[in-house]
Amino acid sequence: MKDSINWKSIKTILLDMDGTLLDLHFDNYFWQEYLPVHWGKMHNMGADVAKAQLKDWYSEEAGTLSWYCLDFWTDRLKFDVLQLKADVEHLIQYRPYAESFLEKLRADTNYRVIMVTNAHENLIKMKVDKTGIDNYFDKIISSHTIGHAKEDQAFWQKFQLENPFELDQTLLIDDNLTVLRAARTFGIENLLTISKPDSQNEEQDPEEFNAISSFEDINF
Ligand SMILES: [Mg+2]
Repeated sequence: MKDSINWKSIKTILLDMDGTLLDLHFDNYFWQEYLPVHWGKMHNMGADVAKAQLKDWYSEEAGTLSWYCLDFWTDRLKFDVLQLKADVEHLIQYRPYAESFLEKLRADTNYRVIMVTNAHENLIKMKVDKTGIDNYFDKIISSHTIGHAKEDQAFWQKFQLENPFELDQTLLIDDNLTVLRAARTFGIENLLTISKPDSQNEEQDPEEFNAISSFEDINF
């Protein structure tokens, strides 16, 4: 599949991290398997009971800054969540052709490349240490620094004030359809999603968006 983007008009490229450039399997496995089992053991709970309880708590916070906040979960669950994440950091990996895409973008001076992520700053640091992904960006912006999740208009308003960009000359690639809809409402005209954010899971339905299955589909 071709990427359907008019690259000649693009000046700014906004890229999400987890599920877009990096395999979401790390995050999904951690939150859905590894953490519930660990937390269940701490409270003498079976894995299934722990998973069900945490699933409820997760869904209460879905799409908010708290859901993405390690401090929030460390406080709520009463142990160091980032520390536990380090146990499974071997699962932090690029998605297919993501690194060669970033190398190619970096070599092309026509584009300003900014990471926009809902990941907590400390988690970004863990992933940067593991992958060197920071080398490919002019800037890395965490929604925790902005103070609003990417799902909120307030994120985009503040982000654009601090990093001016033209709506019609900007491309956002993000695996999260709610985030893409928020960006579209804000006015960003070029949007792409990812058909398989988690290498170990089913493809997601891209609904009204164009999806790429790997960065090999992108030609600029
Ligand atoms: Mg993502």
